[in-house]
Amino acid sequence: MTAVSAPLAALSARHRRALIADCERIAQRPDLDFAVDLFSELPTNGGRDADVLREWAVRACAFGAGLHLDDAHVSPLHIIERADGLEQMLLARYSSRPVPTVELYTDTLALAEELTDLLGWSDWFPAGSLRAAACAHEMAHCHLQLREVKHQLKHALDATALRIGRRRIVAHIVGADELAAHSYAQTAGNLGRSPLLLTAAIACAADIVHRS
Ligand SMILES: [Zn+2]
Repeated sequence: MTAVSAPLAALSARHRRALIADCERIAQRPDLDFAVDLFSELPTNGGRDADVLREWAVRACAFGAGLHLDDAHVSPLHIIERADGLEQMLLARYSSRPVPTVELYTDTLALAEELTDLLGWSDWFPAGSLRAAACAHEMAHCHLQLREVKHQLKHALDATALRIGRRRIVAHIVGADELAAHSYAQTAGNLGRSPLLLTAAIACAADIVHRS
């Protein structure tokens, strides 16, 4: 694994207290709120009714939690470790070409591990679980690219794009695959809270490290 520093250990006591307070405040929010935020922040979902977005988020998360990945489609995945994820706020990334590959960002993973330790969140995100959860998330993306799975997800959300007489066209909702992947990672990794909470906390930590 690529060597990485421990940026939170270098924070002043004041900055560390501020980070803990911010993350404790964030953690008060229910996981579903983060899922709704992810939907709402996408331009294509702008102006949609908040209750509708919440219902779609519930359905996308339930779909992800119930996913069963077919090994034949998701393995063997090629894994590459990199140490330049923090600037882009990436833990991992999946690309299908030239061969199905997961890029794991060791700097962001190390910050996430350091952060969960500092915050006392290891019951939710046990030591060592984040790497597996990040891989599970990307494997879910790989699975969600299968045509029949895309179709199933679309129908699980059951959003109406258009009605023509008695016919109803089901809409593709942008972001649903991302929520499903997060939810799959949480279930597969047996995490106590959504990885979306951790993502929000990492953003907070990266910001404080950047400003300190
Ligand atoms: Zn993703």
